[in-house]
Amino acid sequence: MADGLRALRDADVRVATIAFRLATANLDLCQDVAANAGVVLHDADQYSQAARDEARDVFGLGEWPGVSGVVSEGPADKAGIRADDALIAINGEPTVPRSPTAKVRESRRGDYAQMGRLLTRLQTALAQGPVEIELLRDGRRITTTLAPVMACASAIQLMPSKKLHGGADGQMISITTALVDFAQNDDELAIIIAHEMAHNALRHRASLDEQKVSRGLLSIFGANARKIRDTECAADHIGLFLAARAGYAIEVAPNFWRRFGRTYDFGPFSDPTHPSGKERARAADATIAQIEELRTRGAPVMPTADCP
Ligand SMILES: [Zn+2]
Repeated sequence: MADGLRALRDADVRVATIAFRLATANLDLCQDVAANAGVVLHDADQYSQAARDEARDVFGLGEWPGVSGVVSEGPADKAGIRADDALIAINGEPTVPRSPTAKVRESRRGDYAQMGRLLTRLQTALAQGPVEIELLRDGRRITTTLAPVMACASAIQLMPSKKLHGGADGQMISITTALVDFAQNDDELAIIIAHEMAHNALRHRASLDEQKVSRGLLSIFGANARKIRDTECAADHIGLFLAARAGYAIEVAPNFWRRFGRTYDFGPFSDPTHPSGKERARAADATIAQIEELRTRGAPVMPTADCP
């Protein structure tokens, strides 16, 4: 269990690091921007009951929320914030010491409510500029100033699951641990995260809702399926631009989508709302050719259309 928790933490920080790099490198392309501190927080309650005691032991999580990890060279790292520090105050206001309700204590599932409120509070403070942070490390109190950078708004969460799944609801990007494991390196993982970030940057969820496109069982029929497919094509295309501009090796994309398709496309229900792995690989080739051409000319790597 301890090794599993450490692996989960490593994956969480890895995902946050790639998202940070994508979100900061593409600031000029995003309409929705937010302060980003490059820090991943956690508390004991967010772990399932089965893992909670172990999480306390492994991460030293007591009554306070703690630092799961920091993005290397990011704002929190530069402020001297370290993994396993306890976060005890933001701008002089104490973070809420852990006081789980009976309901949370008895729940087998993790409870994210308190952490969600803390993240909102930190985000609100960071939006005003540098924030004074008080930490507890090996029993010593440490005060530091956290100066965030601006980035594309791109909160991201890692969901423990055996399913290959990613999603973007307009604010939050979610990807499963299975999808992280499926990616063979950071370049492939960047292509997945950039795809979801593109959905949010292009405000796809809001536009599908406006068009009353059903994402449920009925989504596989007719015009619904086509509209969702269009957003998928756009997210793949723009996502590759985001990844290229952040310095990731986008040449891995065609093979990645073919491999993904071999795992994902088969089964009793093929999903007509999503292009097949082969189609996505072909489209990626076309997008990569466009980006190469811009680079050869020394032109800025700016997307000119939604789809190749
Ligand atoms: Zn998508």
